[in-house]
Amino acid sequence: MLMASNKIGFKLGLVILAAFTVVLAALFWSIDRMFSGFYNSEMTTEVEELTAHFAAMTTQDFNGGQTGAQTGTPAGAQTGGQTGGQTAMEFADFSGVSIFYVDRNGNLLAKSGEPVAGFSFIRKQDQQTLFAGQPVSFKYQGADGGHYLVSARKVPASGSGSAETAVYVLSSTKHMDESLIAVRRLLVLAGIGAFLLAAGITWIISRMLSSPLLQMQRATRKLAAGELDTRLDIASRDEIGLLAGAINELAVELKRYRDNRQEFFANISHELRTPITYLEGYAQVLRSGMYKTEDERRQYLDIIHQEAKRLQRMVSDLFELAQMEEGKISLSLEWLDLSELAENAVRKVRLKAESKGLQLGLSIDEDLPLIYADGLRTEQVLSNLLENAVRYTDQGEISMTVLRNKQGVLLAVEDTGIGIPEDELPLIFDRFYRVEKSRSRQHGGTGLGLPIARKLMELQEGELNAYSRPGSGTRFEVLFTRIFENGGLP
Ligand code: ADP
Repeated sequence: MLMASNKIGFKLGLVILAAFTVVLAALFWSIDRMFSGFYNSEMTTEVEELTAHFAAMTTQDFNGGQTGAQTGTPAGAQTGGQTGGQTAMEFADFSGVSIFYVDRNGNLLAKSGEPVAGFSFIRKQDQQTLFAGQPVSFKYQGADGGHYLVSARKVPASGSGSAETAVYVLSSTKHMDESLIAVRRLLVLAGIGAFLLAAGITWIISRMLSSPLLQMQRATRKLAAGELDTRLDIASRDEIGLLAGAINELAVELKRYRDNRQEFFANISHELRTPITYLEGYAQVLRSGMYKTEDERRQYLDIIHQEAKRLQRMVSDLFELAQMEEGKISLSLEWLDLSELAENAVRKVRLKAESKGLQLGLSIDEDLPLIYADGLRTEQVLSNLLENAVRYTDQGEISMTVLRNKQGVLLAVEDTGIGIPEDELPLIFDRFYRVEKSRSRQHGGTGLGLPIARKLMELQEGELNAYSRPGSGTRFEVLFTRIFENGGLP
């Protein structure tokens, strides 16, 4: 279970340890090479020097004429012997090496020092080299398995004898091998220690890395299961901390989305219920003939008709809003003259305004730049604002002004109506929000007009804002920022 849930840590650990093992092995190999190379060359030099010494000693012995008048006698393998080199042989006994005297044919003449199993170190091919005056040295494994360093050279010819003799010195590598084994043992121990340390550190690091990831996995699972209050408590500021922060933000966003959706559905069902109740109720009255006059009947039919229209509008508004929110609506943007759109919108609402006894004014700045917008949608926004103004104004004037300002082209719709309380002003752009519930209903309002208008303006890179003083009037401002000016397209 731990292994399965801790896979990243496991993989990471494996990679780090593998890399570490390779480095350790390379280090081990080079240190071992270094030590054995050093020991070998030291020992070879030593033995070669010793051989040279022995050769010199032997010559001196000859010169002293103490031994070996009959040099070259193959009598041989006697300690001491007639070959000369008495001092050398005695010396060999003390120095822990073995020395051998060999004639030109490779016959053993004399030997001394440590015993060596076998004589195969006397090789035919060396004889020529040796007696040509070149020293020879090589490694040799005795018949008993012991390893030796062999160094041989010709004994320099003496005055008294024509000694054609070579001296072989064999030094056992036992001590050197033991030292190397000790070094290797130390290296292995250090390697195991380093490996364990690395494994420990890797384990801790992988735990540190994987535990917040596991925490995140658990949290996201909870979020997926609908526990949207789940939050992560990871304080680090690295990438993992950033990811945890992003998950927390996602959770907040998801919760807001869910609450919004719930509220939206509650709103829709509430909004739909009212007209449906009316439809049902009045249809029932008509069906059971519960009316007295023909006028009354027509009145009920009118209500049914109105409510059906309201339902239809609401459904199409909702559909439009949903499409806009999903970014599915396609605008046909083109270069337009806003004054034309403004005049059209005013013309359409004029009849309604006059029937309420309201003045309707329009003032447009000269030399306005063109705006880049969707004509139909823009007119929809303007009509919506004008209709609201007429709807929520009982007396006075409604005016539309179009002017150029620093940010672009500004269109304002101002009325002298009932106004909107300050605390409700930001809410009028929310779906279904109405300040004047009864009046809005009376006029078939859906509470969706302003949210749609604002969304449309945002899609055209513009703005829609409201300013109001309750009791004295309201001003809506529409700003178009994409404008055509000074002959150049923006
Ligand atoms: P509705 O269909 O109810 O008019 P809107 O989204 O167009 O929906 O408007 C939302 C609410 O804002 C309205 O119900 C109304 O209370 C308020 N409102 C909008 N325009 C005005 C205005 N010119 N004067 C006063 N209140 C307004």
